[in-house]
Amino acid sequence: MQIPSEHPFVVFKYCPRCGENGFTSVSIKSMKCPVCGLEWFYNPAPAVMAIIPNSKGEILFSKRKYDPGAAMLDLPGGFVDINETSEEALIREVEEETGLVVQYFEYLFSLPNRYFYNDLLYYTLDNVFLCSIENFDQMRPDDDVSELLFLEVQKIALRQIALFSVRNLVGKIQKEEKLKQKIFRR
Ligand SMILES: [Zn+2]
Repeated sequence: MQIPSEHPFVVFKYCPRCGENGFTSVSIKSMKCPVCGLEWFYNPAPAVMAIIPNSKGEILFSKRKYDPGAAMLDLPGGFVDINETSEEALIREVEEETGLVVQYFEYLFSLPNRYFYNDLLYYTLDNVFLCSIENFDQMRPDDDVSELLFLEVQKIALRQIALFSVRNLVGKIQKEEKLKQKIFRR
């Protein structure tokens, strides 16, 4: 495995418990302190992403208010909180970012992904949900979103999308006819 320079195994040098030097990776999943014996595991963080189609064959995208990728395209979603289910995180994140209430949703698949924040690399496991919304009247951008817009997936250049993980998902929708049919119920 090639380790990027933003990976915690490269960035972290001292034991977070005893502060001694020599905190180092013992596998691709953990770091260990040679002095106090702390073994720290580095697992993927669960996240959710919402695919919200309209009746015109478009999907709801947001524009990011903040870095990473300020003013670039994103999909509604975010990290799952402690003690929260993926389903609860989906409903909460969509409501926070768009004001919309998800009436029905269906789990589609998960995608292992990477997220860079503050020069540190996080591995995520994105749970992708297909959502249906009956009423878009309440829609307004909020939280870390500056604008909401419906776009035709096929017309989007992947470089307009901020995050590696969202680029992955949009690229998958563009390539897979069956997935497109499922999203737009054709
Ligand atoms: Zn230690």
